[in-house]
Parts: sequence; structure tokens; C-alpha cells
Amino acid sequence: MTATLIDGKAIAETLRAGIAREVQRTEAAHGFVPGLAVVLVGENPASQVYVRSKAKQTVEAGMRSVEHKLPDTTSEQELLMLVQALNNDPGIDGILVQLPLPSHINADRVIEAIDPDKDVDGFHPMNAGRLMTGTGGLVPCTPLGSLKLIKSVRSDLAGLNAVVIGRSNIVGKPMAQLLISESCTVTVAHSRTRDLPAMCRSADILVAAVGRPLMVKGDWVKDGAIVIDVGINRVDAPDLGPGKTRLVGDVDFSTAKEHAGAITPVPGGVGPMTIACLLANTLTASYLRRGLVPPAL
Ligand code: NDP
Repeated sequence: MTATLIDGKAIAETLRAGIAREVQRTEAAHGFVPGLAVVLVGENPASQVYVRSKAKQTVEAGMRSVEHKLPDTTSEQELLMLVQALNNDPGIDGILVQLPLPSHINADRVIEAIDPDKDVDGFHPMNAGRLMTGTGGLVPCTPLGSLKLIKSVRSDLAGLNAVVIGRSNIVGKPMAQLLISESCTVTVAHSRTRDLPAMCRSADILVAAVGRPLMVKGDWVKDGAIVIDVGINRVDAPDLGPGKTRLVGDVDFSTAKEHAGAITPVPGGVGPMTIACLLANTLTASYLRRGLVPPAL
């Protein structure tokens, strides 16, 4: 069996185009333009790339992008004061503080300081609780994007067995909650799980969010399963030349595609969906804050 490739890049492009249309319509119908503030502390090169990319795509979607780049020496108190100012700024609908933060800043305290209604990353405990109780709120972007990819190949997930490998607050746990909301039977695996290959073989939907290159092998994948590879791992690629690297996922794509019914590649799978869903969350937040019903995306 050779799997259908789930083209996250194309699906994200379609989503972004839909958001851009809605932003135009919003300005015409309601007279406001959604605004996203992104806060970066320090010089982490990967974070700088993410923040640039987020700002560029925000502007391309027709929204307002505000960037705050703070030095490594910024104190937690200074960062909390900036978050407070953004909470109070009526022109800002979404606030994203890029993680990781320097070690002298407590990330949990910063996340909890963000107004939950502007928490477009969906990391605030209030939004985690809303997701768990099925009472709305803003959903973390990577799991939200992963669910959209799953639903691009199968709309009704009720009764399917889903295995999520990874239990982080930003990917694994919210992913499991979303799949429960879709009436899947969900198992969450982690580093202490016994016989992970056997558990994976029971999965109609397999989501890998671990951070271990090519860990999930083809013979762990049930025939016909939907496989979503969230992992992003940079590995040496001597075949490309001395000192070269490439990105790979947590799934051994070349063997897994022989068993899966549908599978995401890395790169070009979940990654592009994460920023597209950040834009979707910003649009959603801009409506909810004004007591309006957000457009379906
Ligand atoms: P974390 O490190 O926070 O969590 C990793 C999880 O994997 C933990 O729950 C850990 O278990 C589990 N794990 C580790 N080793 C094993 C193992 N051998 N067997 C089974 N489970 C294991 O990572 P994140 O959730 O933040 O990210 C996961 C991956 O997704 C990373 O590669 C990251 O780069 C990528 N990512 C991609 C995004 C995208 O946009 N595509 C966005 C966010 C993340 P335990 O809890 O027991 O330690």
C-alpha cells in the first residue's frame, strides 16, 4: 500500500487565503482589522525565524502585525508589564510570546498573565480548561492544524482508535482532547509507555509529537492508518555535503508510507498549518472579543 500524501503546505495556503478573504470582509462589514502582537525575548535563531515568518504571514493575510523584540537581559517584571500593556490595547486581538524564554523568566507566569481572550497560542490554563470541558476558547495551533489535516482525508472520526505519542501541554494533551471531542477512543503514549510499537499498531489515527528523529517505524503503522508527524528534528545529512543538515519528522516516512492510508511529510506537513492556525485564532479572537460570531474557517 502506498499512502496518500497529506499536503500541509497546500492546505495551509488554502486556509490562509480564506482568512485573508475574511479579514477583508471583516473590515468592510465591521470596520476593524485584527491585530496580532508577537513578543520575542533574546536572540534564539530558530525563534527569530519563526517570529519573522509569523509577522510576514500576518501582514499577507491583511492583519496588523506588531513585533516587540526585547533583549536577553529583559526582566520577568518588564515582560509582564509589556503583556499587561498589550492586554489593555484595544487594537490588539492576539498576543503571542515566543517560547522558549530565557531561563531567568518563568514562562508559566508570563502565559498566565496574557488575557485568555487574546491568548492565540491557546496555552493559558483557562483555554486549556475550556478545551477539556468543551466550552470553546482558543485551541493551541499545532494540534488544531493537525486535526484539520486529519479531517482533510476523513471527516467523520467517530469510533476510531487514536494514539497520540507525546503528552506535552502544547501538542500531545490538546491533541488528545481534540480527538476525544471528535469521538475517537484516545490513548496517550509517552516515554514510560510499555510496548509502544504494539500500541501504535492499534491506531487508526497515529499522531507522533515526540522530538525523536524517525522513531516510528513502518511496521508500527496499521494498514490504512492516518499518520500525522508533528516532530521537527534537524539531523546531519552528509549525503548533501560536509556539515549539511536536513529536517526529518518523528516518523520514518519511507517505511511508514508503505502501510499508512494517508501521511504527512516533514517538512511540508504540520509545520505550515501551525502558523495558518495562529492567523485563524487571531481572526477568531478578534470576533469573540467584540461579542460577534467568528467566521467558520
Ligand atoms: P516535548 O519534549 O515537550 O514532549 C515530548 C513528548 O514525547 C513527551 O511527552 C515525552 O514523554 C515523549 N517521549 C519522549 N521520548 C519518547 C519515547 N522514546 N517514546 C515515547 N514517547 C516519548 O515536545 P513537544 O510536544 O513540544 O514537541 C514534540 C515535537 O513536535 C518536537 O519535535 C517539536 O519540535 C515538534 N513541534 C512541531 C511543531 C510544528 O509546528 N510542526 C510545533 C510544536 C512542536 P514524557 O512526557 O514521558 O517525557
